[in-house]
Amino acid sequence: MKRRTLLKFLAAGPLFGTAWHVRAAPPMTMKGIKEMEDNWKTLLALGTAVPSPAEELKLSKDEWRKRLQPASYSVLREEDTERAGSSPLDREKRPGVFVCAGCGLPLFTSEMKFDSGTGWPSFFTTIPSALKTKTDYKIVYPRTEYHCARCGGHHGHLFDDGPAPTGKRYCNNGVALKFIPKDGKAT
Ligand SMILES: [Zn+2]
Repeated sequence: MKRRTLLKFLAAGPLFGTAWHVRAAPPMTMKGIKEMEDNWKTLLALGTAVPSPAEELKLSKDEWRKRLQPASYSVLREEDTERAGSSPLDREKRPGVFVCAGCGLPLFTSEMKFDSGTGWPSFFTTIPSALKTKTDYKIVYPRTEYHCARCGGHHGHLFDDGPAPTGKRYCNNGVALKFIPKDGKAT
């Protein structure tokens, strides 16, 4: 690109309402990540009551089946995986908080989300104490499965190829989440 063309392009940039100038870049240091984790409630819509991980929720299979949509039940209670690209939450970019579709526990904020290109909502860190992990061998080699600390619902798998500085990628099923925008109604 010629210098003059480049300057024109840069000058025109802010006219386009694309994500690159709307969203802040992830923090560059682990100190910044810690601050993001500690201040997650700044993304919670005003007056929203949310449970804590300590308020454990245990229900029978039948009770879960009544409470959840079939697709959410398959993922949360039977560790199924949704089809890549099928969740509108993969493209959700508004400020807000992602909660467990099973029990409402806040798991991630919009600031912790990044576009991994996998077709699943992806996050590079979590709200403190929201998730627990275990190792599964469903596809022969070991993977780190993670689930909601409150209801035990399966959410996805954790990989070590996420963006710096955490290097983590929480690959989450969209049907296992609900999004509460900072201004507005839950989706
Ligand atoms: Zn839950």
